[in-house]
Amino acid sequence: MTSFTELGLAEPILRALTDAQYTTPTPIQAQTIPHVIAARDVVGIAQTGTGKTAAFALPILHRIGENRPRPERRACRVLVLSPTRELSAQILESFVTYGKYMRPTATLAIGGVPINRQVRALNNGVEVLVATPGRLLDLVRMSAVRLDQVDVFVLDEADRMLDMGFIHDIRTIISKLPSKRQNLFFSATMAKDVSELAAAMLKDPVRVAVTPEATTVERIAQQVIHVDRGSKANLLADMLKKEAAIDRALVFTRTKRGADKVVRTLVGKGIAAEAIHGNKSQGQRERVLAAFRAGSIRTLVATDIAARGIDVDGISHVFNFDLPHVPESYVHRIGRTARAGAEGIAISFCESEDRPLLRAIEKLIRITIPATDQRGVKTESSDEAPAPRQSRPQGERRPEGRSNNGAPRSNSRPGGNGGGRRSEHRPTEHRAGEARPSENKSGGRPPRQNGNGNGNGRRPDQTDRQSAPAVAGDTGLGNVGFMHRKPAPSHRPEGATGERRAPR
Ligand code: AMP
Repeated sequence: MTSFTELGLAEPILRALTDAQYTTPTPIQAQTIPHVIAARDVVGIAQTGTGKTAAFALPILHRIGENRPRPERRACRVLVLSPTRELSAQILESFVTYGKYMRPTATLAIGGVPINRQVRALNNGVEVLVATPGRLLDLVRMSAVRLDQVDVFVLDEADRMLDMGFIHDIRTIISKLPSKRQNLFFSATMAKDVSELAAAMLKDPVRVAVTPEATTVERIAQQVIHVDRGSKANLLADMLKKEAAIDRALVFTRTKRGADKVVRTLVGKGIAAEAIHGNKSQGQRERVLAAFRAGSIRTLVATDIAARGIDVDGISHVFNFDLPHVPESYVHRIGRTARAGAEGIAISFCESEDRPLLRAIEKLIRITIPATDQRGVKTESSDEAPAPRQSRPQGERRPEGRSNNGAPRSNSRPGGNGGGRRSEHRPTEHRAGEARPSENKSGGRPPRQNGNGNGNGRRPDQTDRQSAPAVAGDTGLGNVGFMHRKPAPSHRPEGATGERRAPR
């Protein structure tokens, strides 16, 4: 199998990859990296979770390392455009992680935060600028950034950009770039308008594509339990005790303290559990992971960042003890249970104040996750359901399709009110494209209707997944329906976000 060394990446990048515990390039990386190093334009058909960020970030860093003139004032060498603030922050984080031993100057230009800091960060020029379109244009208009020095232009999630009404902004931005530049274009789908944009932007591109066998959300049985904050630890302990089908459980908390607290509760109730997070030493992390892999610890409690390096097959259940603030993290988290031919179960606890987070997740994955209260009584999943569409009953698979995270775009893109149809006007500040986590994370696309046309909400090849008998809690929490898994093909997504400026 191809290794990162064989792909021709420079040594400081290889070292950073070793630190990140990446051993093997993903297919999109193996296909893309050599072409980017060779300065070709690339059109990549790949969705989140395939490793597409590293597919462009690694060879771009390699190219930066080959020749590092000091950036001119207010200029940038690499411009990455992405549709949302969260994705932009994630991309910047990737450049920082993979560029650990190169220390590229890199910064973010995204809406929703004061612009002055961004103006200052750009003043001396940067090597890498990751931006959302609206804020970038604001900065261009203020003459805080110039785009005439861009060597490499990346358009990420192009289909989502178009759905969000950014076509005019993108055209304006492209008109300000030098004509001699390298272009990298990524999209989960290639509808006509996306292909047209690619054709207008790219010169003799290499086409690379990865089609995941199935997407995370399709293969994982998901469930939400609405529960009071104070009851969550007992509910988790109860489930872990009662449910023999849990081979290995990965429990996500939002904070390190939260992770430690959950472990204390579980251990207090006689359940072997360990936490893994940034405050643990490398030795402790390795020991805990080895025990988890070996099966001597059945429950691992982790924060998002700590979970990045966890590559363990056979995780049967992912528990979202706390819902993530960034909806994409939900997909990354639950994807930990769908590796190596296994299909997993994801159970999310939702406190009442976290309902906006749940709504944002459901918009992103375009599924209304079956929900119960803590007694096991079926409830509406989020108090303002995203939009009318096929909800997958507990124990049943999602109807069909793919998006960024699995669902195909509706080519007809009917207008509608469920998240804003594709608009031709440029969104203003707080525009959809730079939405806060709880806003419009579906990218403004109308939610998919049940699209298989067979009226039963399922693909013909899909079988029902049966709910197991309810688990009666001895905590007074009542009956909580449990889902059991069936074997399925493998997949591997994961991720985290964060906004940072890489020091020089
Ligand atoms: P992306 O599709 O870029 O969102 O990447 C999904 C996740 O996969 C990211 O969180 C990366 O940390 C992780 N990842 C990317 N490439 C690799 C690799 N070669 N080995 C292991 N993990 C990876």
